[in-house]
Amino acid sequence: MTIVQRHQSLQAEASATLDPNNWDDIRAQGHRMLDDMFDYAANIRERPVWSPIPDDVRARFHSALPHQPTELGEVYREFSDFIVPYATGNVHPGFMGWVHGGGTAVGMLAEMLAAGLNANLGGRDHMPIEVERQVVEWTRAMFGFPTEASGIFVTGTSMANLMAVLVARTAALGSSVRQHGIGDDGALLTAYTSRAAHGCITKAMDIAGFGSNALRNIAVDDCHRIDVAALRAQISRDREAGLTPFLVVGSAGTVDIGAIDDLAALSALCREEKLWFHVDGAYGALGILSPELRPRLAGIEHADSIALDFHKWGQVPYDAGFLMVRDGRQHRDTFAAPAAYLRRETRGLAAGASWPCDLGPDLSRGFRALKTWFTLKAYGTEKLGAVITRTCALASYLEARISAEPRLELLAPVQLNIVCFRYRGTDANALNGEIVADIQESGIAAPSTTLLDGQLAIRAAIVNHRTDVCDIDALISAVLEFGAQRTGAGVVDVEQSPPLAM
Ligand SMILES: *Cc1c(COP(=O)(O)O)cnc(C)c1O
Repeated sequence: MTIVQRHQSLQAEASATLDPNNWDDIRAQGHRMLDDMFDYAANIRERPVWSPIPDDVRARFHSALPHQPTELGEVYREFSDFIVPYATGNVHPGFMGWVHGGGTAVGMLAEMLAAGLNANLGGRDHMPIEVERQVVEWTRAMFGFPTEASGIFVTGTSMANLMAVLVARTAALGSSVRQHGIGDDGALLTAYTSRAAHGCITKAMDIAGFGSNALRNIAVDDCHRIDVAALRAQISRDREAGLTPFLVVGSAGTVDIGAIDDLAALSALCREEKLWFHVDGAYGALGILSPELRPRLAGIEHADSIALDFHKWGQVPYDAGFLMVRDGRQHRDTFAAPAAYLRRETRGLAAGASWPCDLGPDLSRGFRALKTWFTLKAYGTEKLGAVITRTCALASYLEARISAEPRLELLAPVQLNIVCFRYRGTDANALNGEIVADIQESGIAAPSTTLLDGQLAIRAAIVNHRTDVCDIDALISAVLEFGAQRTGAGVVDVEQSPPLAM
C-alpha cells in the first residue's frame, strides 16, 4: 500500500475513539448518576448501614470477560442494583467499625473533576502538580514543619509508614544502601515502636528488608501509651549487644483505643540518642486541627517524618494517604533516580523539578491532591477541626451511657474517638463477637471488634462527620437488645434516650 492508500484506508475505517457519538446522551446519563449519588448521601439514613451480599449477587461478578460492548445505561443499572446496596457502609452515620472516614459531596465532585482531567502527577510542569505542592505547603504549616520539608500523597498510611522506614534507613546507612542493599551494617539496625502500634509498621520492617524481628515492640501503660522508660532501657540493651538503633515510631492515635504516645518525650529521646523519629498519625495527626486535641499532640512538630491519612478524620474520599519528611533532601535521596526518559528540562512540559516521582516508589500517580485541596478550601480547617472535636464528644457520650448501664462494661479508657466495651455475660468473648455480627447484619450500626488483654471488645470508632447522638443511642439499644436475646434474658426495656439522672 502506498502512503496515500494507507491514509485513505485509515480515514475510511470506523473511528476507534472511545468518545461517545452523541455527547448529549452521556450528558443526560451522567447528570442522572450525579443526582443519584447526591440522593445516596442525602438519604443515607434510610438504608441499612451494611447488608450481607446475597449469593446470587456475588455470583454475577464471576462472569466472563466482556468482548462486546454493553449499553452504558445497563452497566449503570448493574452498579445501582448490585454494587451500591452492598458497599462497605462507611458513608452511613451508623458506621463505627475500624477507622473509616465518611467522605463528602465536595470530595466526590472533586474526584469526578480529577478523573476528567486525567492528570498524571508523577512529574512534569502542570497545574495539578502545583495543587499537590499547595497541599504539601498547607500540611507543612499545620504541623509547623520547616520550609525544606517535603510531602507526597500516597495510597494510605501503610505505604507512608513503609516509605518513612526507607527514608530512615537511607539516613542511617547513607545513600549507597540503594546500590548495595542493607548489608552487614543494615543487619544490625533495630527499630522501636509500642505494642499498641499498627501492624503495618511490622510489615514495613519486613518489606524494607530488615525483617520484623528487628522491630522491638515496647510495653505500654494502662492508657496504651508507649512506656518511654522501657524504650530507653531497650535501646541501651541493644547498643550494649552491638546493635544499631535507628528508628522510633510513635503513635498519634493507636488503632485499637486511640492512645497518643508522649510525642514530646519521644522526640527528646530521639534527639538524645540520634534516632529517626517517625510518627504514625494515620488518623490522629489531623487532631492538630482541633483546638481541644492540639495540645495532646505536642512534640509532633519535632518529628523527622509524619504519616497520616486525609481519608480518615479528614473525610476526604478514599484514598488520600500522606507522608511528610522534615528534611526534603533526605526524602529525595531515598527515592530519586535518574532515567533518560524522565529527563528534566528548564523549559517546556518537562520542567518543574523536583517531581513527585523523586519522593516515592510510584511514577504514574493520580490527582489525590485535588479532593484534599477542595476539602480544605470548601470547609476550612476550623470546620474540619470542629468535626474532629465533635466525634470525640460523641465518644465521650457513648462512654457515659456505657458507665450508666449495668449490663455493659467499659474495657479501655476513652481518650479520643474510640470506645471499647462489652456486654457482660458468661463466655463474654464469644457472646460479644456474636453481638457485633448481629448488629452488623441488622443494618442498625457497624461496630467492629478488637482484643484487649485477651478480652474481646465491641469497638466503636466515631470518625464519620455524619454520626450523631441518635446513632450512639441506636448502637447502645442494639447491643442491649441482641445481648438480651443471646443470653436468653428475654425482651428488655431498652431506653431510646439516656437516663434522666445523667
Ligand atoms: C488506618 C491506620 C493505619 C493504616 O493506614 P491505611 O491508610 O489503612 O493504610 C496505620 N496506622 C494507624 C494508627 C491507623 O489507624
